[in-house]
Parts: sequence; C-alpha cells; structure tokens
Amino acid sequence: MDAWVVGLAAVGGLVLGGLLEIPVERVPEHESLRLAWWRCPTCAAPAGGLARVPLVTVVSRVRPCPSCGAVEAHPFRPLVLSVVSGVVIGAFAARFGATPALAAYGVLALGLVAITAIDIEHRIVPIRVLYPTLGLMSLLLVVASILDGRFGALGHAAVAGVGAFGLFLAIHLAQPGGMGFGDVRLAGLVGVATGWLGPGWRGIEIAAAAIMVAFVLGALVGTALMVVKGYGRKSKVPFAPFLAAGAVVAVLWGNAIVHLWLGRLG
Ligand SMILES: [Zn+2]
Repeated sequence: MDAWVVGLAAVGGLVLGGLLEIPVERVPEHESLRLAWWRCPTCAAPAGGLARVPLVTVVSRVRPCPSCGAVEAHPFRPLVLSVVSGVVIGAFAARFGATPALAAYGVLALGLVAITAIDIEHRIVPIRVLYPTLGLMSLLLVVASILDGRFGALGHAAVAGVGAFGLFLAIHLAQPGGMGFGDVRLAGLVGVATGWLGPGWRGIEIAAAAIMVAFVLGALVGTALMVVKGYGRKSKVPFAPFLAAGAVVAVLWGNAIVHLWLGRLG
C-alpha cells in the first residue's frame, strides 16, 4: 500500500465530499445546481471570501447570515460529508492503490455519501444523484476493465446489478410500504459496483455479502431505534444508509467475508 496514494485520495475525498453539500442541499428541493455555489438558503445571498472554500465554509456557516441574519439549519453538514467521504475514499485507495478502479469506486463513494445524507433527511433516494453515479462509475469500470483486460468482470457486474435489482423489486412488490422503489434502484447500483470485483465470479458473492451486511445492519439499528426511541414496527427507517454501508464494507472486506462463510460451509 502506497501511503501517498491513500493520503492524496483522502484529501481529494475531503474536498469533493464538502462539495457534496450542493447536491445534498438542492436536489431534494429541485433547485438548480448551477446557482452560486455557496449561498444562504434563506435569502440566497451568495457567500463571499473564505466561505466559498470547502471545509473552511463551516466556519462561516456557524455564524448568522450577514445579509438576512438567518442561522444555517445544518452548519456542520458539509464537514460531516467531507470527513466521511475522505475516510471512505482513503480506505478505497488502500484497497485498490493508484489504479483505474480507484476512480470508479471514488465516484461510487461520493454518490453513496450524498444519497445517504438525502435519504436520512428526506426519505428519498434521488435519481438526480443515483443515475449520474451509476453512469460515471460504469464508464470508469469499462475503462478499468479494458486497461486490466478483465472483460468478464463487466458481465459479472451486470448480472449482480440485475440480480440485486430483481431481489429488491420482489421485496418492494411484496410490501410496497416497506421498501421504496428508490431502494430498488440503489440495490442495482450496489450490485453493479460489488459485482465487478474479482477474481472471476467472486463479485456475485461479494454483491450478496453487501446485501447481507445491509440487512444485518438495518435489523440491528432498527431494533436499537425501537428500544431507544420507541419507534414502532411501522415507522419508516431509511434503508439507503444500510445499503451504502453494506456496499462500502463489501468493497473493502468482501473477499474476507466470502472466505469466512465458504470456510464455514465447507
Ligand atoms: Zn441570508
């Protein structure tokens, strides 16, 4: 593992993660992403000076808006997006090194962080984030496959994507109130991302591991919320964060998880 690669990737993740604040703030409100980058959500006054610099922006956000005096609803959200993206992309860099695959999984990480934040806050998995993530990641996986000569991996990614989409579609149709269609689409993205990982058909098993981890985490956190916060059985807990966590765990440790359960079976 090259420490420089990990460090650079983590810093890149920190900066790009902070910029995710723009889609996280605006996509659920159906606002343009082309407006002034940093601005007050109340009076739309564009921020000036240091407030436009990623990470530093938090310093300006904890103070009331100089134009209208409104206090930012989520002053620390860019920092959280930034740190989570930096940690995940740094870990992916340790996993993949300076390879074309790192670019594809970096895109995946940013997409998953944004989708998780939006789903926690608004209970939606926005297609305006999901489709660009799927499109760009797939393109980069094609490039990585060509450079690595791993064309079979594209087939495995497609099979895992369709399989995960189909599984979640069945769950959605069986109980439409339980699993939203956004989660079905997200499962497809996670299937493609994890299915590409080798060697050989191993990606299919890694995709299964991602979904299994998602359901285990969902059950654990769901139970904890019932006990601690008195959530009822019918309360809707967003599932995208668990799918995202399952995907990250599977990308990082999927091979180890598959070895573990194959070892138990054999
Ligand atoms: Zn303002």
